[in-house]
Amino acid sequence: MSRIGGHLPVGITPYYAALIDPTNPLDPTRKQMVPVTDEFVTSPGEADDPLSEDAHMPVPGLVHRYPDRVLFLVTNFCATYCRYCTRARMVGQTGEYHFNQSQHQAAIDYIAANPQIRDVLLSGGDPLSMNDDRLEWLLSRLRAIPHLEFVRIGTKIPAVLPQRVTPALVKMLRKFHPLWMSIHFMHPVEVTPEVAQSCGRLADAGIPLGSQTVLNAGVNDNVETMRELMHGLLKMRVRPYYMYQCDPISGSKHFRTPVEKGLEIIEGLRGHTTGYAVPTFVIDAPGGGGKIPLVPDYYVGRDGDDVVLRNYEGKQYRYRDPVAKS
Ligand code: SF4
Repeated sequence: MSRIGGHLPVGITPYYAALIDPTNPLDPTRKQMVPVTDEFVTSPGEADDPLSEDAHMPVPGLVHRYPDRVLFLVTNFCATYCRYCTRARMVGQTGEYHFNQSQHQAAIDYIAANPQIRDVLLSGGDPLSMNDDRLEWLLSRLRAIPHLEFVRIGTKIPAVLPQRVTPALVKMLRKFHPLWMSIHFMHPVEVTPEVAQSCGRLADAGIPLGSQTVLNAGVNDNVETMRELMHGLLKMRVRPYYMYQCDPISGSKHFRTPVEKGLEIIEGLRGHTTGYAVPTFVIDAPGGGGKIPLVPDYYVGRDGDDVVLRNYEGKQYRYRDPVAKS
């Protein structure tokens, strides 16, 4: 049976599979990685490419949605295949995306020809699934573009294949600063000594690390789990960055949570723990509208020259803020 016009493969590293509790059918890692029949059921509002990435590609594999930055899809290979993946339409399968050198070169040429582009995010697929030489070729070509201010890499490999983060890899990466990295983390069970070592190597190489987490029903959709994850990330020098509402890809209903659940989690973190531990909750707008942040409403209203605010405990406070008299 096919899904999204093809097959999202099943793939999981031995290291990551070892985190699954074999006695627990509801194990959070199992839920993310092992397919169930629900993913073959397409519900209203779902689409194969809900963010309309394919419609914003001036050259294959390069998404140019915002004027000053691009998303450069460099491979369709991943170390693990997440059943809720936004790019389930393309990862792990052959098709119109070839990700060969000529495709990479066409994307690099486009970036070089558009001086308004100051920021490139390498993603895929997982860029760290490429070998060091290939990655170095890409990074060196991008770094040679004078108007490019910095490069980011989006990856899940430090969390699911920490052995890939070798001294040789980080020695190569550190040549291309400023280089930033966003690492996909989902659950506190991922915070292990091996992952701490992989993140430590990257941080020691001067690469600022941020996290990206997708809200998944039955995986991480409660305050306690998310708080434990965020605390674990800070201990590994990974700054919680984005918490995403799960994108409505075809067959994702069983993963998606009500939007209010995300707000509840942010409310349960903000003020209750270190500010650095609170990610930004966003919905990537279907149709290509970009990331839209959602925050609980702490602004109660205005009372003359006072602004009435609500704190994390629900208590109200007044901030004197005279209305400008013209
Ligand atoms: S690692 Fe990222 S790109 Fe690969 S399947 Fe998971 S979410 Fe998709």
